[in-house]
Amino acid sequence: KDIDREISQILGLDERREKDSELYKVFSEVFDKTTIDTLAYFHRRGKIEHLLGVISTGKEANVFKAIDGDGNYVAVKVYRTYTTEFRRIWEYLAADPRIGYLPKDIRKLVFVWTRREFKNLQRAMKYAVRAPEPIAFGNNVLIMEYIGDEYPAPRLKDIERELDKKDFEELYEFAMGSIEKLWKRGDMVHGDLSEYNILIWERPVIIDWSQATVKRNRMALTLLRRDLRNIINYFAKKGINVEDPDEKFRELSGD
Ligand code: ATP
Ligand code: MN
Repeated sequence: KDIDREISQILGLDERREKDSELYKVFSEVFDKTTIDTLAYFHRRGKIEHLLGVISTGKEANVFKAIDGDGNYVAVKVYRTYTTEFRRIWEYLAADPRIGYLPKDIRKLVFVWTRREFKNLQRAMKYAVRAPEPIAFGNNVLIMEYIGDEYPAPRLKDIERELDKKDFEELYEFAMGSIEKLWKRGDMVHGDLSEYNILIWERPVIIDWSQATVKRNRMALTLLRRDLRNIINYFAKKGINVEDPDEKFRELSGD
């Protein structure tokens, strides 16, 4: 009962009576007891006052816009605790030298995945690679800086039609600079860098750090090559004078 109360507060159902809202629908469809308990915990701690809306519903996670106890917007990424991506998550975690013990239970594996994304965000920030500032994590819930204003910041893919050559040139420099800085200074690779995971705001911001890992990971070179190819191919199609992906790969991997 207390939890019910807390959840209707988190969702702002009392004030808004939006029982048929998209927010409520997504919420009731995907949130199990662990998720509700975790959100209630963050509500008590003042980290989440209300969920305000759904930013994205994906295979692995839903991302919400929320407001915290101080009235600031935050982004809340909630991983599904049951997932068809189990194999992929398991493989990625198993290859990460930072992860010691791998739980057999899917839910617990997702908790490890969530914590790893939080750690990745911290590490990216430490090396001055632009990412949302991590705020808190618990179980399958990750709270981070919200990028946007009333509306969330668009992804590069969403606004590419509005950009000119100079914008693309700057974004190419940003993306390649980020890959290089991450790899050389941070001993790290994003692993899913593309026009879908770069938000365009006052300055571009790289999101979705769940599959990012460290150089020591046996998959790191594969991920580095993938990031270089994705970025270079994308900007080549936009008419930018790009580097050769294989040469760049040799340059970075051969140090
Ligand atoms: P997908 O499978 O679609 O890539 P995902 O589950 O891996 O999604 P993210 O890519 O991290 O999750 O986030 C999904 C979407 O939510 C992003 O494309 C972006 O539009 C939005 N988003 C994520 N983080 C933030 C943030 N910090 N601020 C604003 N919007 C965000
Ligand atoms: Mn993404």
